[in-house]
Amino acid sequence: MKQFSDFPRVSLGILPTPLYRLPNISEAMGKNIYIKRDDMTGVALGGNKVRKLEFLIADAMAQGCDYMLTTGGAQSNHAMLTAACCDRLGLGSVLVLKKRGVWQKLGNQIINDLLGADVRFVDTDDYADVYAEMERICGELRAKGHKPYCVPVGGSVPVGSLGYVNAAREAIEQGAALGVRFDDIICCTGSGGTHAGMDLGARIYSPKTRVTGIAVDDERFRSIVRDLVNETSRLLEAGIHVEESDINVFENFGAGYAIPSSSGVAAMRMMASKEGIIIDPVYTGKTFAGLIKLNQQGYFDGRDNILFLHSGGAGGLFAIDIDHTED
Ligand SMILES: *Cc1c(COP(=O)(O)O)cnc(C)c1O
Repeated sequence: MKQFSDFPRVSLGILPTPLYRLPNISEAMGKNIYIKRDDMTGVALGGNKVRKLEFLIADAMAQGCDYMLTTGGAQSNHAMLTAACCDRLGLGSVLVLKKRGVWQKLGNQIINDLLGADVRFVDTDDYADVYAEMERICGELRAKGHKPYCVPVGGSVPVGSLGYVNAAREAIEQGAALGVRFDDIICCTGSGGTHAGMDLGARIYSPKTRVTGIAVDDERFRSIVRDLVNETSRLLEAGIHVEESDINVFENFGAGYAIPSSSGVAAMRMMASKEGIIIDPVYTGKTFAGLIKLNQQGYFDGRDNILFLHSGGAGGLFAIDIDHTED
């Protein structure tokens, strides 16, 4: 198997992020619930995309690129963090965002403004239109002598997932230092790269640990995650191959992506009031709500040590009205 040091990587995050046991939540749930604080990766408001961008931006730089283009929803944490990381490294960036949901200057749009990010909205609900616009902007940049690098939504390509294979290794080592082997890791499944990296990392470094993603978007996530696990394994020469049935996903998107759900908001209140930790309505709230539901359904029976990945999302918190939920 290859080493992470065999791949280009730029240091952007403050790593390792903390990992510790949540005493009050553990007591309430009757399990040892640990948290991995990837909301504290240290760029802008933190979040999981920093780990992917360490590999993606380095790959771009190794190819001589000087511009990063990416996309997402109007409140995309990934796009905001791409702009923040590029700023730090002196690269250009263009964020081509879907004008769906909250696009007023709230939440991540405030941060994009502070960063001086070049944001272009596409008035569509179809990523095909967004990618066509990205291609057009790439053509413009090339005509001006630039070399752009395009990253699809969420940075969920194998090079990006390397960041989460490494995060799984980091978390498993931190667990071992505490004398704990995690029975389960629960993470969010959005565009799939985080889940795929955690799944592959657990298969490599702690094969008895089960990884389950909580789907917060009604995509065909199982096949997406399967493909990303297999392609990332090929990149790492890890020799692991999975089928769709090997991927554990629990659907908890409620009425749809970025629409707050009552269980998600209840999970946010529980995490805040019991542990002083803020999770968000789009990703981590629904993910933690999924963990609570799985516990109630007996999914963790006979399994005591559960790790919850806090993947960030603070920017979206101030753009979404949590008093209006749909289920
Ligand atoms: C993007 C994102 C996720 C989902 O990660 P994917 O790799 O896209 O599945 C989870 N939490 C937060 C806060 C995110 O921004």
